[in-house]
Amino acid sequence: MTESKPNSWCGRHDKPREFAKHQPIICYDKPPSALVSKEEYDNKRYEALTGELVETLVVPKREARTWTMQTGDLCRITVHEGPQVGDVNFWNLDNCQERFYSGKTRQLHAAHLKVYDRLWSCLPYLRPMATFVFDTLAQYGIDEDGGALHDVIGTRCDDYTYKLITGQERVGSCHSSLVKAVVEERGMTEQ
Ligand SMILES: [Zn+2]
Repeated sequence: MTESKPNSWCGRHDKPREFAKHQPIICYDKPPSALVSKEEYDNKRYEALTGELVETLVVPKREARTWTMQTGDLCRITVHEGPQVGDVNFWNLDNCQERFYSGKTRQLHAAHLKVYDRLWSCLPYLRPMATFVFDTLAQYGIDEDGGALHDVIGTRCDDYTYKLITGQERVGSCHSSLVKAVVEERGMTEQ
């Protein structure tokens, strides 16, 4: 049985490594474009809710669907058959090279998104693609497992990682459902 080492152990002569204490430096202070006017977005939400219903789409469990939105449209995502987890991807309708960038969204906002946070596009575009305007689950907080909602940490499950971990072939994952939807409905490819 090996003796456990202190956390700061670096493997050199079994001596604990010492670090000077520094004040944390905030590298990702929010730029003005990440901070929206709450009143403006509350008004946009109100206008959308009192406007015309463009489309209602039911996504069956373990399947995926695509839909189109224009600037200013409001999309309401609701679970109507009980608790469910969902993955979402989105692209610029006119240029599918521009797509949602979860990592940068996490750095500009947080690991768990909340109302008035924005969803940013990939480089070299780096533009807000959508803004959260309401959350019926805002009071959920952090559960006993340390989990919270609306995360930009995890990725969808996929058959490639499944094989990497288990060595087994599998067909059927959130990723394969998403691919099927964009291929069949949008003429896009897995890439
Ligand atoms: Zn999954």
